[in-house]
Amino acid sequence: MSIPASLQPLRPTLYRLAADGRSLDFFYARCPDCSRLTFPANAPGCRHCGTPLSEAVRIGMRGGGTLLEFVTLHVPLAPGMAAPAIVGDIRIAGDLVEEGVLGVDAEAGLQPGMTLRAIARPCPDGAHFDCVFVPENQETPQ
Ligand SMILES: [Zn+2]
Repeated sequence: MSIPASLQPLRPTLYRLAADGRSLDFFYARCPDCSRLTFPANAPGCRHCGTPLSEAVRIGMRGGGTLLEFVTLHVPLAPGMAAPAIVGDIRIAGDLVEEGVLGVDAEAGLQPGMTLRAIARPCPDGAHFDCVFVPENQETPQ
């Protein structure tokens, strides 16, 4: 299922809608010195060696990763964030770990080590989409 094409990414420096209209590509910067990836791509310096990334090549790669751990939040972390929500630490590339929101209702189907993919979820404002992670084999957020 695709999301409406009129929706814009809530955080366009981090991700874009992939060709399938549902998945997200994440933007990384490839360090000109050590060749490793940094996320987000607009970070001032390489997360591995500290080299300034002003000359770095920005590349888009399929968003997703490996679930490391997760927890259910019963109070919103930020204005506009739904609660309860399940958030997790996700290894998105190499040794890069980011916190992400999981697009599932309950922890029951989650387990550390499982593969996740990033998909677009329409925002309540009707104009944007945000990023949520779902199990690789799950088509739509529950
Ligand atoms: Zn580097």
